[in-house]
Amino acid sequence: MNERDSEAVAALLRDKGYSIVSDESYADIILLNTCSVREQAEQKAIGKAGYITARKRRNPNLVVGIMGCMAQNKGDALVDKLPDLDLIVGTQKFHRVPDHLDHVIASLNGLGPKPDTIVDIEEEKDSQNTIRSHQADQNQVSAFVSIMQGCNMKCSYCIVPKTRGSERARPMNEIVDEIKELADKGTKEVTLLGQIVNQYAVREFPFVDKKSPFVQLLEKVNAIDGIERIRFTSPHPVGFKDDLIECYDRLPKLCEYLHFPMQSGSNQILKAMRRPYSIEKFCEIIQKLRAIKPDIYISTDIIVGFPGETEADFEATRSVFESLQFDMAYIFKYSVRPDTSAEPLGDPISKELKESRNQTLLNILSASSLARNQSLIGTNQEVLLESPAKRGEGVFVGRTRGYRKVIVPANDRLMGELVTVKITEATTSTLTGELIIAD
Ligand code: SAH
Ligand code: SF4
Repeated sequence: MNERDSEAVAALLRDKGYSIVSDESYADIILLNTCSVREQAEQKAIGKAGYITARKRRNPNLVVGIMGCMAQNKGDALVDKLPDLDLIVGTQKFHRVPDHLDHVIASLNGLGPKPDTIVDIEEEKDSQNTIRSHQADQNQVSAFVSIMQGCNMKCSYCIVPKTRGSERARPMNEIVDEIKELADKGTKEVTLLGQIVNQYAVREFPFVDKKSPFVQLLEKVNAIDGIERIRFTSPHPVGFKDDLIECYDRLPKLCEYLHFPMQSGSNQILKAMRRPYSIEKFCEIIQKLRAIKPDIYISTDIIVGFPGETEADFEATRSVFESLQFDMAYIFKYSVRPDTSAEPLGDPISKELKESRNQTLLNILSASSLARNQSLIGTNQEVLLESPAKRGEGVFVGRTRGYRKVIVPANDRLMGELVTVKITEATTSTLTGELIIAD
């Protein structure tokens, strides 16, 4: 989501005549987009901002801004810490960046008073409709499309409802128009983004034939010429009903890959996390999906070390995690976040225990991911060639429909195309293959 927001800001700035440089040391303006999900992410961003603002002392014309979740979370407090910042822009104000830069630059050129740090973190009605610009001059093989902002769930560990606000959906026709434009420019794959995508527009649009607005949107995107692949992230087990499960059978462009956050395998911890589903319900959804699409690829998010997580709770997570055989997973060590309902519980689980639980799950993941990749050796896979590989000329990186990374030698003209690749080698994270040319 942050990548998408940054891209939209970059596109707005390009339209005004700015250009993006290849290295920050050449830049006249540096904007940091930031994440607040864990404390470590914020510390990193503050460290980086401190390093950049120190450069302002040698070059007072350098403009430095902080955008996104940390700007929203910390607001004015950031100015106390980093008084040289020019700009602090919250998550509902990305589209205002060009105007704010105009003021900062006018004052640097002596055309206006020297402004204090601009802090713009108010809520703004309909701000969800402002994340829509894409880089017009770039052929985006695969594009992110933001379909909604915010989240109304109240997961006890999570800062997102504070930094992103309440759920606001974009109109379906605007999303479809944006994707049609992308398709006209050569985009083959779209990933629909939201904090809880399957709840898209449940308040704004009616269910039709028992189909949720999200399923209706998937159907519309599936009908767009030129789009070959559809993905989305992240769905929530709540509201993951049969109408969505059936899409994997009937919508050919919907890739057989799902990122499906589980968070914990213990019902007690799920309850303490305020995740309103049981682990049995979570597994049942996966069983239904696998019944419809036996080769579906599934990834997840897990938090280890939530306050009160006992050995028995972790063992429940370990055992479900192993039995579900995830193809990929993000495993997070719990981090206390300000103003969440879990904040008063503190952080009683030691760093070492979190680390060891994290490692236990990573080991299981390595084995399941490697086994899945090895099972593909000798098969032919449809691969979308997305970018040149670092490895050298004539070698590309692509993805299978199951979101496995594939390295393949190919001709430049195939960049951005769907090709058939025979898989010859596999590691935990990467497949290697050779192009199959049709007779
Ligand atoms: N909306 C998505 C998640 C967005 S945050 C969903 O509900 O699935 C991405 C992931 O960060 C979460 O799934 C969770 O695993 C992790 N996360 C969120 N808050 C966290 C915290 N306080 N400590 C550690 N991990 C956290
Ligand atoms: Fe956070 Fe829960 Fe909303 Fe996801 S669903 S963004 S974890 S509050």
